[in-house]
Amino acid sequence: MSACLAQGPKILIVTDMEGLGGVNDRDEQLLPGQRRYEETRRILTGEVNAAVQGAKDAGASLIVIWDGHDGSRSLAVDEVLPPARLIQGKPTPANYYMGPKMYDGIIFIGQHAMAGDPKGVLAHSQSSATIKQITLNGKPVGELGQVAAIGGYFDIPVIMLTGDEAACQEMLALQPTAVTVAVKKLVGKQSTLSLPHAEAKSLIEQAARQAVRQVKSYQPWKLQGPVDLMFEYSNPAGKISHFQGQTVLEAFEGWLGKP
Ligand SMILES: [Zn+2]
Repeated sequence: MSACLAQGPKILIVTDMEGLGGVNDRDEQLLPGQRRYEETRRILTGEVNAAVQGAKDAGASLIVIWDGHDGSRSLAVDEVLPPARLIQGKPTPANYYMGPKMYDGIIFIGQHAMAGDPKGVLAHSQSSATIKQITLNGKPVGELGQVAAIGGYFDIPVIMLTGDEAACQEMLALQPTAVTVAVKKLVGKQSTLSLPHAEAKSLIEQAARQAVRQVKSYQPWKLQGPVDLMFEYSNPAGKISHFQGQTVLEAFEGWLGKP
């Protein structure tokens, strides 16, 4: 990283695909080989690079992108804007994801709402379609809430999120000062109304610039221990699993250690 910027904020960009502009069809847009997958990759790259540009303009000294969809293999290095760095492959080494104060803020791109949100586009929690609800100390959380909680454990706040309108609302309920950009909203059973990509990119760039400039004003989302992580399944119906720990990290480790 260039020495002249060494004092600027360090930013982690966490991406997903379901919350990108124009994405609403899991059978055509989300996985390699599907008819519109390359279109989705292009939109992902555009939205991510807009955030990189905004963060860079605001003086970020380090921008690391963690591709959170489909095993961290959606983005291509020849398309990512410098000075960002890209983590690829699975599993992600823990020390390249998050550690104590490793970053000053998290920017989410392309996020979706938690399972069961009637207003969410492609709303789900984790890759299993059978997860009905996840809670942390009784509070319902989706994927973005889980990342926010782990970030909070390491004193890293979420500073910005882009996604569908429901994902933005979900984020604001946890971190009310996060800057959000709703690139689309649900307007029918599986239909969405999206901003044109060019307009979304412009709003994302502005939002990232603002969020990184004010990065010092954010508070991380801290969960008080002991922490109970609960999974409720729709199949088999009513099945519930609990994982407990003194910290949110211990609770998640308990879950990941018990498949
Ligand atoms: Zn995804």
